[in-house]
Order: sequence, then structure tokens, then C-alpha cells
Amino acid sequence: MPQVIDSLETARGLDQQDPLSNLRQKFSLPTTKSGEDQVYFAGHSLGLMPRQTPDALAQECRDWAALGVEGHFEAKSPWLPYHEVVAPALARLVGAKENEVVAMNTLTVNLHLLLVSFYRPTKSKYKILIENNTFPSDKYAVDSQARFHGFEPRDAVVELKPRTGEITVREEDLLAQIADLGDSLAVVMLGNCNYLSGQRFPFEKIVKAGHAVDAFVGFNLAHGAGNLALKLHDWNVDFAMWCSYKYLNSGPGGIAGAFVHERHLGQKDFPRFEGWWGHDKRTRFQMGPDFHPLPTVEAWQLSNPPIFQLAALRSSLDIFDSVGMQKLRDRGDRLTGALRATLEKNLSHRLSVITPQNCGSMLCLRIKGERQPWAHLLREKGILVDFREPDIIRATPVPLYNNYEDIYRFQHSLHELLEQYAK
Ligand SMILES: *Cc1c(COP(=O)(O)O)cnc(C)c1O
Repeated sequence: MPQVIDSLETARGLDQQDPLSNLRQKFSLPTTKSGEDQVYFAGHSLGLMPRQTPDALAQECRDWAALGVEGHFEAKSPWLPYHEVVAPALARLVGAKENEVVAMNTLTVNLHLLLVSFYRPTKSKYKILIENNTFPSDKYAVDSQARFHGFEPRDAVVELKPRTGEITVREEDLLAQIADLGDSLAVVMLGNCNYLSGQRFPFEKIVKAGHAVDAFVGFNLAHGAGNLALKLHDWNVDFAMWCSYKYLNSGPGGIAGAFVHERHLGQKDFPRFEGWWGHDKRTRFQMGPDFHPLPTVEAWQLSNPPIFQLAALRSSLDIFDSVGMQKLRDRGDRLTGALRATLEKNLSHRLSVITPQNCGSMLCLRIKGERQPWAHLLREKGILVDFREPDIIRATPVPLYNNYEDIYRFQHSLHELLEQYAK
């Protein structure tokens, strides 16, 4: 049973008991004007900085200063193979094999690069199924891919359909829609947790349904990597991409990740945009005119990667590795369960939680009655959440650095505001 946090003492007691509470000390928490820790519930937007990250970056500066170009070979962690160093941790994080994951580019770039490979429409098989309310960048990306291949997005890009009056999509409707699109469906391209409702999609069933009509299935894990326990390989997902500045705490604009299932690797002539970092490592520096792809997902790399971003990502992944994703998810379920139970017990007359159960750490809330700038009002009380049009507040207790006391302070301040604006 999720805990209802009815007092500060209850919250502090639970924090003392929880075996992972001390992870919070590994992060820098923003402070309020009066010098207290902010209640930071915006980790779904930008994760907090691990305290060890500045040292990790400084190490690269020192190596650069001392070694110049020779840092590629002689830096403490040589730059030439630096992206390989983060692959094992990334693989554990998303449930993949090491040859299936790579850190490169940013999320929307990776979405395009993977659609180049997996969206190869024909006259009769050209539709892409995406979420309703999809994150705008994803919509722009798939629309432009459809147009690039000579199709009208209005025809080629199909959105999931929730029932009238519902914000999340029922599983049976989703699977039926895939079956109905049948042979016309080229790619299913969904998020894993909808950014607006928090709904989590049933990966494995979607992959099976997509493959049953010969479509490729890809996931955007912006809200999944570092949030959910994933098994991309076992679930037979064809491809996936994610950013690392949200749940993965790699800093603003951090380097993204990409996954391609092993069964698509090492194939000659697989369609792909190519660059020198995807070329066979043994002969890359012979600088020959013909491309010889690496037999791993690294074949999708274009450029030599940004070392500072990789260093920041690595610093954060070390913390994930020291705990393990399943344990973090379990703690996340305890915290998010407590947040939900507390809000539903104390505030259900003014507020509804629209995120279904078991959906990762984020809760999307809707406040009934007259609209107020809730996120702004909360911020003045030292609480950071975010607001999404038309009327949704997103609040995320992150298992790495949030705690029960944060939950207590959030609900207490929200309660005060709802009293103040009692309409
Ligand atoms: C955060 C997010 C993005 C952001 O894209 P960038 O390329 O990293 O700027 C894209 N899609 C979804 C679903 C997101 O949640």
C-alpha cells in the first residue's frame, strides 16, 4: 500500500528508513531565496547535476591543456574510444546488448537518422503511427520525413485515437489500430511515457502487433531512459532513441542515445546516412574513399563525439550503475505512489491525477476550477514543477534525489494555494 504522507514527521521517518535516501547527497539541489533546498519536481525536464560532474569535466580540460591532440590517445580516458566507455552502462540501462547502443548527437537528430533507416515507404506501405499529443519535435520530424518521401503528412502520419472525453489511449484500441492499418503501416513510432498524460505504453505487445503487419517498431525513450526498467533487446524493439538531460542528468543539451536491434546490425547495404565515425575502426585513419561500416550500431555515428558531453554522461551513469535501474524504479514507485496517494487523499475535490498507475515517476495533474498560474505560484513557495498547455501540471519525484519530505512540502504548499484560491 502506498504511504499517505500526512505530516512532516511521517515524511522524515520514511526518509530515514529508506535504504536509498542518501543518493540525494550525490546531487546539487537548487536552493530557494531563503537558502533551503528547493522541492525540485522537474527532473522530467532537466535532471540535476551530480556533484562529481564538474571534476569529470575538469579532467578533460586538464588533459586537453596538457596533451593537446595527443589526448585522443593519452588522456586519462582516451578520447578516441571515449564513446565505447559509456556503452556498457547504457546497455544495462535500457536492457540492450553493448553492440546495440551508442551515445551520439541529440534526440531529434537520432530520430531522423533512424527513420532514414527504418521508414522506407512504398506506394502501399507508407503510414507512420504516432501518439496523439505527441511532443512537437517528434511530430515535425515524422511529418517532414513523410514529405521528404513525397507523401502528405495528413495521409501518411496517423495518430493514436483516445476515446471521446479520454486523454489516455486504451490498450485494446491501440492494438486494434495497428491491426486495422495492416499492410499500409510502415512504422510504429511511439514514446514510452506520453509527455502530457504520463501514460506508459505496453512495449512488448506493441512490438508484436507491429511485427504482425510487417511494420518496424521504434520508441522515443525521452521519458523512459533512466526512468523505467527497460528490456529493448528482449522485447524485440527495432530501434529507439533518447535524450540524456532529463532522467539521465547529463546536463543541458547533453548527448543522446540510440538503439538498433542486433538483427539489423552487420547487414551490408542497410540504408543509412553515413560519416567517418561509423567506419571500421581498424581502417578509419587510412582515410580511404569507400565506407566500411562497423558491425555495431556505431555504424550510425557520423562525427567524432563531443567529449565534454560524454564525460558528463559517464559521470551520471556511474551513479545509475552503482544502484541499478530496477532498484531505482522500485524506489520511484514508492515515492510516486506516496505522492499520488497523498494528493488523492487530501486534495481530490480540487485535483485529478490523469496519469494511469505504474507509469514511471512523473504524475500529470489537473486542477479543477478557475485557472491560476499554478506553476508560478508554487515556485514562489520554493517548489519547481512545470506547466503544459492547456491545463496540466507535471510533477516528478525522482528516486535519485527527491524524497518523502519533498512530497510533504509539495502537497502542503499546493493545499495552501488551493485554499487561497478557493474557487
Ligand atoms: C524532451 C523530448 C524531446 C526533445 O528533443 P531534443 O532533440 O532533445 O531537443 C523530443 N521528444 C520527446 C518525446 C521529448 O520528451
